[in-house]
Amino acid sequence: MRQSRAFIPTLKESPADAEVASHRLLLRAGFMRKVASGIYDFLPLGTAVLRRIMDIIREEMKAAGAQEVLLPILQPRELWEESGRWSRYGEEMMRLKDRSGREFGLGPTHEEMITDLVRSNTGSYRDLPLNLYQIGPKYRDELRPRFGLLRGREFIMKDGYSFDRDEEGMLESYRAMYEAYGRIFTRCGCAWRAVEADTGLIGGDVSHEFMVPAEIGEAQIAYCDSCEYAANLEKAGYRRETPRGPRPDLRPQEAHTPGKRTIEEVSGFLGVEPRMMIKCLMYLVEDRPVAVLLPGDREANEAKLARALGTETFRLFAPEDWERFPLYLQGFVGPVGLEGARVIADQGLQEAADLVCGANRVDHHLLHVSPGRDFQVDAYCDLGTALEGDACPRCEAGRLRREAGIEVGQIFQLKTRYSLPLRAFYRDERGESRPMVMGTYGIGVSRLMAAVVEQNHDDRGMIWPEELAPADLHILPLDWSREELREEAEALYREARERGLEVLLDDRDERAGSKFADADLIGIPWRAVIGREFLKTGRLELQARRDGEKSLLSRGELLERLTVKRHPAARGKISAG
Ligand SMILES: [Zn+2]
Repeated sequence: MRQSRAFIPTLKESPADAEVASHRLLLRAGFMRKVASGIYDFLPLGTAVLRRIMDIIREEMKAAGAQEVLLPILQPRELWEESGRWSRYGEEMMRLKDRSGREFGLGPTHEEMITDLVRSNTGSYRDLPLNLYQIGPKYRDELRPRFGLLRGREFIMKDGYSFDRDEEGMLESYRAMYEAYGRIFTRCGCAWRAVEADTGLIGGDVSHEFMVPAEIGEAQIAYCDSCEYAANLEKAGYRRETPRGPRPDLRPQEAHTPGKRTIEEVSGFLGVEPRMMIKCLMYLVEDRPVAVLLPGDREANEAKLARALGTETFRLFAPEDWERFPLYLQGFVGPVGLEGARVIADQGLQEAADLVCGANRVDHHLLHVSPGRDFQVDAYCDLGTALEGDACPRCEAGRLRREAGIEVGQIFQLKTRYSLPLRAFYRDERGESRPMVMGTYGIGVSRLMAAVVEQNHDDRGMIWPEELAPADLHILPLDWSREELREEAEALYREARERGLEVLLDDRDERAGSKFADADLIGIPWRAVIGREFLKTGRLELQARRDGEKSLLSRGELLERLTVKRHPAARGKISAG
């Protein structure tokens, strides 16, 4: 590609609404342009990177036995009614009607479509296992699209689905995809971590997310500093240390706590550690009050709460809820003598004793309270959020650490979550009808491109890993008006392309400083500088974008080095030629 002819509209200034590096740099370097909130055009350089990500995905999917298909984005409402998700998916699904009033959703995911395709075209155990995938646009009407490609409304995704005869087969398909995903992210130049995850709106039992650690990541991860355990914070477990005070024999006793409402205030006033208190949160769950109890030093984890409650329709009491239920006194509510509310408690309180909690009386708290003895709990569940330094739930000695990450992939063991309601059955060897056992596997392709930039940039621009770079080599003749430089640049351009390399030739009549600045911004991993050194010695300067390392080489040596990097298998052939 000749830079003078290439469509690379770089920007001098950072766009005002671009808050994170990937968003800023991809816009500035002319890889993409904003169309509307959360919707982008991909320009030639951006498209080149996307294509390389897709090539890697296709190679790994093929190696793992998956077959590529392409399903429509427009999905009929009826199919989503069958799975029960037309209403459950809520406002995140973009919906429209055709001219005759028939309703469609713009596919946010394709479980229904693929299950429909497979149920209509397979019937026998001989047709299974089957693993199908596609790469294409997806739509989610995000409440707050942000961070460029990291949270968009239209984005490119790879989604795959496996169909097996039984659970054992499904586990095998799942493991194959887990391993293929690891290879994909490694080949894309990412540092990544697979973590146990919540299954959310997709459903199913077991799920893993593939996380790219990044400070600006919106996902929080907990991982063990000693074993392999790692989980999304929505899911992360921890080994609880049961809070037991020194006087479990004493009965509850009121303490005057004037104006002290929060855990911190009461803890400070009474001189009791927060973990020795009971946090009592009032939730409105499907229009009924529920008291949620936690050790005072814990935050309630709403994903865990949704699992425990079996619904996603709940909220922490709002001012109008406190008004509607005047029995409950904000700041002084506690489980002892609490009326009219279901009580669920974190497992950490199960064997606890001699704690402090609200007294259900203004300006008062209770001392020496023991769950089970002084109040009843309807269910003990895992409700708390893991904290830095918590004991690992998996091993003896490990402690949990927390980090932020960008989720670039997620895989689910769906089992029969879709095959049962959508009646995707097959006949087994004995002729009996059985539901197919499914898995589903996604990669955010455009999000991955942004995640790679978050991990690979500096204050001058992007630094593409070799496998994803929009070109393998950037040729910078520093003075286009000098014929010797121009001729050498053209020769290198021609020969590099003959060797199958993707090349960007800066044939613009610009000053050297501005060529270097653009090259830094675009971030092609290798550049051949043709300037003063060439005029003196006939050698080119090969520079690495990442660390600035330089080597002086002849044209042939430079080409040989890059060709071997890009196509290691071609080495023998090229040396012989
Ligand atoms: Zn551990």
